[in-house]
Parts: sequence; C-alpha cells; structure tokens
Amino acid sequence: MSHPLFNLAGKTALVTGSSRGLGLAIAEGLAQAGAALVLNGVDKERLAQTASALQAKGYSVQAAAFDVTDEAAVVAAFNRLDAAGTQVDILVNNAGIQLRKPLVELSLAEWDKVIHTNLTSAFLVGREAARRMIQRGQGGKVINIGSLTSEAARATVAPYTAAKGGVKMLTRAMAAEWAEHGIQANAIGPGYMATEMNTALLQNPAFDAWVKGRTPARRWGRPDELAGTAVYLASAASDYVNGQIIYVDGGMLAVL
Ligand code: NDP
Repeated sequence: MSHPLFNLAGKTALVTGSSRGLGLAIAEGLAQAGAALVLNGVDKERLAQTASALQAKGYSVQAAAFDVTDEAAVVAAFNRLDAAGTQVDILVNNAGIQLRKPLVELSLAEWDKVIHTNLTSAFLVGREAARRMIQRGQGGKVINIGSLTSEAARATVAPYTAAKGGVKMLTRAMAAEWAEHGIQANAIGPGYMATEMNTALLQNPAFDAWVKGRTPARRWGRPDELAGTAVYLASAASDYVNGQIIYVDGGMLAVL
C-alpha cells in the first residue's frame, strides 16, 4: 500500500510543457499518485495526442494549450479553468527551451525568448495559480523546474543559465511571499536527461562520453526518474519544505 502522505487523490495538477519530455514524465508520475491533470503545450495536435494517450491509461486529463510567455493567453487559460470549475492545487512550471550560441553572437531577441520561456513564464503562470490558491485559502504546491545551470555555468548557454539561476531565486521569492498562505514553492534541478531537448547532445559521441564520465551514476537520467521528487514536492510529505531546489542529477553537481 502506498504511504498516505504521498497520495494526491482529489488534487489537480497543471504541468506546463507536458506534451512530451520531462513535463510528460512528471505529469504521469503525479497522475499515478492520484492527481487529475491539466496538460499544456503550444502544439495543439501533439497536446491532444498526449492527453488521449494518458486518458487511455485511465487518468483524469484535460488539455490547456497556451503559450506560457503570453500574459493574455495565460490569464485567459486560467479564466477558462475557473469557468470549468477546475482548481489548480499543484502547479509545475516546466515549459522551457534551449538555444546554444556563444554570448557574443547572441541577439537580444534570442536572449529575450530564452529568458521569457524559462523564467518569465514561471512568474506569469505562478502568479495566476497563486492568486487563486491564496483566495481559496487551501494552500497549494508550486514546483519550478531549474537545471544544473541554476548553480553552474557552461559555455554557449548563457541566457538559459541566467534564466535557470533566476528560477532558483524566483522559487525562494515565491516561498517568501506565499508560505504564510500554506503554499510551498520548491524547485527540481534535473541533471542531463534523455529528452528531445538534448537530441543533438545525445547523438554527439564526445558529449555523451563527457556526460557519462562526469556523472557519478555514469549515465544520462531517464525522464521518469523525476517523478518521485515531483510527487514528494506536490504532496503533504513536503508541507514544511519551502524555497528549496532538489537536484536529480546522478550526483553530478556534488563532485568535481
Ligand atoms: P522538451 O523540449 O522535450 O519539451 C519542452 C516542452 O515545453 C514541450 O511540451 C513544449 O510544448 C513545451 N513548451 C515550449 N515552449 C513553450 C511555450 N512557450 N508555452 C508552452 N509550452 C511550451 O524539453 P525537456 O522535457 O527536456 O525540458 C523540460 C524542462 O526541463 C525545461 O524547463 C528544461 O529547461 C528543463 N531541463 C531539462 C533537462 C534535460 O536534460 N532535458 C535538464 C535540466 C532541465 P510543444 O510540444 O507544444 O512544443
């Protein structure tokens, strides 16, 4: 029997960027723990396919396609959820993009896109979710997805690094303002995980060898390996944990 502290039955989780990759794995983990899901992405067709696949597994799923960087679209999506009687108890700010380019070659538009998609989105979606959680007075959970770059830099990913460092501190800022309302805001920092975002790196023998050599676990992470930490941070088991970032990285950040 599963431990009652980790039971998410009766809760609804909105996971941004959950049509594929880590967001999908996190969403499925939350559903396995009993949560109803609101899936999100920009590609409506892919989102509908993912929603159908999870419904076929017996989970309660609805799809909300919207661009997490578009303030009006985010507000409209929450208004639609309100109208449908769907209350978001758990928010996972997962949607993100990568762009690899030397800093001196980067345009302002490229910088802005990465910052908006990885950082500003967590503010926009987090704000709408928290406004409603505070009004309801039943608390809530916010889980932001950081990265190893929340702590350490790497060449050619400067805006991503700045955004993910920002995600770590935004998480603390959310905790500072929302903890008194029974909302816990925490973050997960995944290590190198095998998803579409990393296709080019996975196919690059030198990079693949570097990841395996640099990671004490000697392998890439699997998306489903984030589910346990996500369930913990979404559940009553973490009700006095706030402003933390947990790295799920096979030990990479802990060693030189
Ligand atoms: P993927 O590229 O595999 O998936 C990205 C997801 O985000 C898709 O569902 C995509 O939707 C969605 N998305 C992108 N832009 C937007 C937007 N503007 N509005 C709404 N949804 C959007 O990425 P990963 O699964 O690899 O990454 C997920 C998160 O994890 C990101 O925040 C990433 O930075 C972080 N991360 C990933 C690591 C890894 O090794 N993979 C390591 C550390 C952190 P659509 O399908 O419609 O395009």
